[in-house]
Amino acid sequence: MVTWARVAKIAEECGEVVAAYIGVTGQNPRKGVAGSMDDVVDELLDVALTALAAVEHLTGHRGEALGLLNRKIVRTGIRAGVIT
Ligand SMILES: [Mg+2]
Repeated sequence: MVTWARVAKIAEECGEVVAAYIGVTGQNPRKGVAGSMDDVVDELLDVALTALAAVEHLTGHRGEALGLLNRKIVRTGIRAGVIT
């Protein structure tokens, strides 16, 4: 149940990104324009933080999430050709 909650929280935070972006761009005529792009960025960071917390949970809270993220960034950068 805890694992499910950790994973579901990521999706919840993704929804908050979309809601913030809708607010900034005024795509909901009923609510008008609200917030700033800083709010969108803050929600994106919530997604990243929540995902890292889920990684920590799934890997036994060994403090490896940032290292795993770093290795993922390097692998992705190499595959994309921006890291040699
Ligand atoms: Mg949030």
